[in-house]
Amino acid sequence: MSMLADEADLVDLGLRWAPGFSALGPAFYTELQPRPLPDPYWVGRSEGLARELGLDASWLHSDEGLAAFTGNLPIAGTRPLASVYSGHQFGVWAGQLGDGRAILLGETAGGQEVQLKGAGLTPYSRMADGRAVLRSSIREFVCSEAMHGLGIPTTRALCVTGSDARVRREELETAAVVTRVAPSFVRFGHFEHFAANQRDDELRALADYVIDRYYPACRTTSRFNGNAYAALLEAVSERTATLLAQWQAIGFCHGVMNTDNMSILGLTIDYGPFQFLDGFDPRHICNHSDTAGRYAFNQQPNVAYWNLFCLAQALLPLIGDQEVAVAALESYKTVFPDTFEARMRTKLGLADAADGDRALIEGVLKLLAQEKVDYTIFWRRLSNAVAGDNPEPVRDLFIDRAGFDAWLQAYSERRAATPAAEAAGRMLGSNPKFVLRNHLGQQAIEAAQEKNFEGVATLLRLLETPFEEHAGHDDYAGFPPDWASTIEISCSS
Ligand code: AMP
Ligand code: MG
Repeated sequence: MSMLADEADLVDLGLRWAPGFSALGPAFYTELQPRPLPDPYWVGRSEGLARELGLDASWLHSDEGLAAFTGNLPIAGTRPLASVYSGHQFGVWAGQLGDGRAILLGETAGGQEVQLKGAGLTPYSRMADGRAVLRSSIREFVCSEAMHGLGIPTTRALCVTGSDARVRREELETAAVVTRVAPSFVRFGHFEHFAANQRDDELRALADYVIDRYYPACRTTSRFNGNAYAALLEAVSERTATLLAQWQAIGFCHGVMNTDNMSILGLTIDYGPFQFLDGFDPRHICNHSDTAGRYAFNQQPNVAYWNLFCLAQALLPLIGDQEVAVAALESYKTVFPDTFEARMRTKLGLADAADGDRALIEGVLKLLAQEKVDYTIFWRRLSNAVAGDNPEPVRDLFIDRAGFDAWLQAYSERRAATPAAEAAGRMLGSNPKFVLRNHLGQQAIEAAQEKNFEGVATLLRLLETPFEEHAGHDDYAGFPPDWASTIEISCSS
């Protein structure tokens, strides 16, 4: 049977498409069509991303676009597929997983893969239904664009469409589809899959594809005696270290750092029970299903390293020497702390490193943890204080005033060499006024469940430019209400 629908039914988005991932061949995926959903409607759309893709934004307002991004009409030039991968979940080998509900439409000529998440059953759906529910689709859509707004590497989201088709989770919910965009959705788990099945040819083909497309410098490196696969592992380790440093500095908790949720490009991927910290609690667990706290906020950097170790094991047949593989992971241990410290220095408005910075950073984090001070509000108030505002609002966040004053004194002395305006500019550009707190997402979700999508649009607008003041929207930048701590977000999505 042909995978191509009748010419007349095709939607031509006016994009040019490239072979991309599909060129790897059928060992890596199954071709299939998305499954339609009845009577779709728009839930959210990112016109900024449409422009970046070269997609006319009118497709985000037309019935044909709605049908295409729900998976109800095929898109000209695409060859939809679901890819196969495996992975370690919660520290345990889980065997074959794969795109159970994500369908890759193709890659644009501009090098962006476009994927529909929640578009129906695939051969990798296992016991599940191939669908995504509205609440988690809104969270993924808004958070993808919010992370991009913060300057943190992430997969993007073009739009969300909904349908009243019912989906069973703990309760009955309704279905939605997120259109995700990234240069590649390849995960550590793709490599683990072929390594575990001793399919070295496919393993090599995948590594060669990733190197040629995304890490070409690995071909010409002199590191590891020119071993391109070791260089790939090192490059992925460094990107992952950089990503983790950014998560830790902004207060982002991913929630399900399984190896199948780790991007080979070092992007934040697969938004599930994630959370931006409210009060600063290093041991915070955002995933209600994670009873042991494997993915607690302060565990993330170590878990990422553990995941890289799994990737190293998968790449070992190509690297050929265990010692070389271990050496390729080594730089994680310096890139993570160095990048984290640099990010924290920027949050403090400091231009360059000096002795004692680490103590200054550890000092403030300890104070914040002691009283679980609101992490985002603290940094924004400190920024405003340096910008010339009254410093009282930042002091007011602490019960232990003496402790805070002592830290502030040390900080002020350290910062004295930097002109205040310069420091304040740096701080206001790195300490966001707005982050996607759980309760903000929840309010937008509850309105959307009643077919009011204004809240999703407003959140998107604020979070696309989270460092701006957005006058009139201070209610989105305040302390979380008491009920925020009762929100329970699990793997169920
Ligand atoms: P996650 O940890 O949510 O990223 O998903 C782990 C695995 O379960 C992946 O293979 C997903 O494709 C699959 N999966 C999750 N939810 C569903 C669903 N509703 N239908 C089919 N597969 C799913
Ligand atoms: Mg996943």
